[in-house]
Amino acid sequence: MDIHVSKTSTPKPKPPEAQLGFGRFFSDHLFAMDFTAEKGWGNARVQPYGPFSIDPAAGVFHYGQAMFEGSKAFRGEDGVLRLFRPMAHAERMMAGAPRLCMPTPTAEQMVEACKALVRVDADWVPKAAGTSLYLRPTLIATEGFLGVRPANEYRYFIIASPVGSYYGGNSLKPVRIWVETVDVRAPRGGLGAAKAGANYAASLHAAVKAKKAGYDQVLWLDGQTHELVEEVGTMNLFALLGNTLVTPPLSDSILAGVTRDSVITLASGLGLGVEQRALSVKELRAAHANGTLKEVFGTGTAAVVSPVGELSFAGEPMRINDGQPGPVGLKLYETITGIQRGVLEDAHGWMTAV
Ligand SMILES: *Cc1c(COP(=O)(O)O)cnc(C)c1O
Repeated sequence: MDIHVSKTSTPKPKPPEAQLGFGRFFSDHLFAMDFTAEKGWGNARVQPYGPFSIDPAAGVFHYGQAMFEGSKAFRGEDGVLRLFRPMAHAERMMAGAPRLCMPTPTAEQMVEACKALVRVDADWVPKAAGTSLYLRPTLIATEGFLGVRPANEYRYFIIASPVGSYYGGNSLKPVRIWVETVDVRAPRGGLGAAKAGANYAASLHAAVKAKKAGYDQVLWLDGQTHELVEEVGTMNLFALLGNTLVTPPLSDSILAGVTRDSVITLASGLGLGVEQRALSVKELRAAHANGTLKEVFGTGTAAVVSPVGELSFAGEPMRINDGQPGPVGLKLYETITGIQRGVLEDAHGWMTAV
C-alpha cells in the first residue's frame, strides 16, 4: 500500500504525561483512506490532524453506518514502539463490517496504517508506566445520498490520543455497578458483535441513569429474558466462581474483546479453569450468598482489567471481595500490562514492533 505522508508545519506542544487522562488530547496527524464503489480503497495518506469536510447527506449522519476500533501503541522499557495484537483488532473490524454492509481495507492494510501513523507521530507515544498512544480506527459512510441503502463511498481513518493509566496511580480502583433491567445494549440479531457506534448510542441512556443513582457503570443483561449477564459498561465480563473464571459465550449480542481473549489465554497458565457459558444474575447471587463468588471484573483495551466492587440489582447491593480488587484480576492486569511494556516475556507473540 502506497501511503502519502504530508506533515504538519505547526506541531502542537505535548501535554504533560501526568495530565493525559483518556481521549482528551490528539496527536499531530491522522491516517485516512477512501473507498468508492468504482475504484475500491485508495488515496491512503497520513495528513495533519484536523476537521474533515463531509457532505451533510452522508450516510454516517443519517443511518448510522459507522464503526470503530480501539487499540494501543506502547513505548517499551527498551524504547521500542509496539502495538498490542493489531491483527486481532483489524480482523475484528473486518468481521463486524459486513453486518453494517460496510467494506473495509484488508486486515494487513489496517495494521500497516496503524504502524504508519505511529511512525509519523512516534514522539506522541508517552513514556511513563501505564501510558500509551490509543489508536482509534474509524469507518464511516461518506456518500451524500438520502435513499436507504448501503452507501457507495466510505472513509477509514485513524486518530491517535496519548492516554494515561486508566487508574491514575497504580492500584486498580473497583467500580460500583448498576444492573440494568430495562434498557438493552444489544438484542439478539442486532449489532452487538460489531463495534458499531450505534451500540454506544443505545448504551448512553442507562449509563446516565446509573451515574445519577451514584454508580460508575452498567451491567447489561440479555434482551430476551433479562436474566443472563452479558457485558459490563463497554467491557466484557468475567466472574471468578471458586477457581474457575466464567465469561458469557460470544454471540451476536456480545463484542469479542481482544482483552477477553487475552485473559482466557493467560488464565490456564495461572492455574484457573475457564468456562465460556451462560451466567445468570440468579447464579451470581447464589454464589455470592454461599461464598464462592470471589471476584467480578470487566476487561477492555482502555482499563485492561476493571474490578467490580459492588453489583446492585433492583436496589439490593452485593459487595464483592469486600469492595477490593481481587488477586486474580490484579495478576491478569499486571501480566498483560507487563507484556505491553516489554518487561514480561511475550510468549504468545502479541506485540508487533512498529
Ligand atoms: C471494545 C469493547 C469491548 C472490549 O474489547 P477490547 O478488544 O478488549 O478492547 C467490550 N465490549 C464492548 C461492547 C466493546 O465495545
